[in-house]
Amino acid sequence: MTAPIPASSDNVRVAIRVRPVNRREKALGCQNILTVNNDGNMITINRSDLDPSKSKSFTYDYVYDDTAPQQLLYEDIAFPLVEAVLEGYNGTVFAYGQTGCGKTYTMEVINQTSRKSKQQQQHNTHANIPNKEDRGIIPNAFDHIFDRIDTEKQTKFLIRVGYIEIYNEEIRDLFADRVYVENLCMATVTTSAEAQRLMNKGRSTRVVAYTDMNAESSRSHTIFFVYVETSHIDENSKEEKIKAGKLNLVDLAGSERQVKTQTTGLRLKEATKINLSLSALGNVISALVEGKGKHIPYRDSKLTRLLQDSLGGNTKTIMIACVSPSAESYDETLSTLRYANRAK
Ligand code: ADP
Ligand code: MG
Repeated sequence: MTAPIPASSDNVRVAIRVRPVNRREKALGCQNILTVNNDGNMITINRSDLDPSKSKSFTYDYVYDDTAPQQLLYEDIAFPLVEAVLEGYNGTVFAYGQTGCGKTYTMEVINQTSRKSKQQQQHNTHANIPNKEDRGIIPNAFDHIFDRIDTEKQTKFLIRVGYIEIYNEEIRDLFADRVYVENLCMATVTTSAEAQRLMNKGRSTRVVAYTDMNAESSRSHTIFFVYVETSHIDENSKEEKIKAGKLNLVDLAGSERQVKTQTTGLRLKEATKINLSLSALGNVISALVEGKGKHIPYRDSKLTRLLQDSLGGNTKTIMIACVSPSAESYDETLSTLRYANRAK
């Protein structure tokens, strides 16, 4: 059993991350519409070229501009959450936002080369370990957990990992390469590199399953699970103390509006399911933040149902909303800022 943490919105933290202007936006000469204040918790979106009165400001727990290094995000927001997981709590990190705004960069960093060469990625799941300074939250969390194991010799650790994808409200187990039935396929890992290799392998399963990875990846959610079990002998009582925590690392489907009026068939079905699950997640998080007595609609989507034991109560949640700085993405960025604003 774990000690209670007082339930409060302190258990839900929201961060905005602005990605750098990309080559295409530069070539188009897109106007920058976002300003981050110096304290790093307010962001202003401004289309002064169209209508100065349209400028809007939002505050969050953290706002990161395009210069924020991966390590800073880890230390500020992920480190305390992983510490809680090592203490036996459940915690979740969500990366939310429009496709191309940095969700996967923030969570993992897929090397640019591996994006260019799917073939290479399929056949070489070992080489694809990101540079230390580029590492996103997942590889940093692996290092964090295994560094702890190395220093805490008195405690026994059991670390297991699992990896799934939710596509069209269907869950696929990326370690088993099959539709998830009842039990998640989990692997015991003993080093950070081993965890990273398994993750790369799971990712390549996705590549095999779908023909167009870049397009498909924006339409599915992936969740990487890390189960941490610890046991140590209490010095006073001489009894064994066991703790179990779970870390969920979630790269959400692209939040952009996918439905165009002429959309039909599979694309329409996909779009409807994505909207459903992202809005279900938003509803669950805002119900949790509003607090006491509020009905929490976990059952409205596969994603929230699957993460039910890690959302609310004594658990910790981080939402990182990723945005583009360019005028071209004004509508999507505003909608992401609003979504994230509900979550705090
Ligand atoms: P998403 O997963 O949201 O679709 P990606 O993480 O794939 O977006 O990011 C799209 C591109 O932008 C990638 O080439 C990625 O390396 C780059 N990128 C995103 N965020 C950052 C950042 N903060 N710093 C540098 N490059 C970034
Ligand atoms: Mg992505």
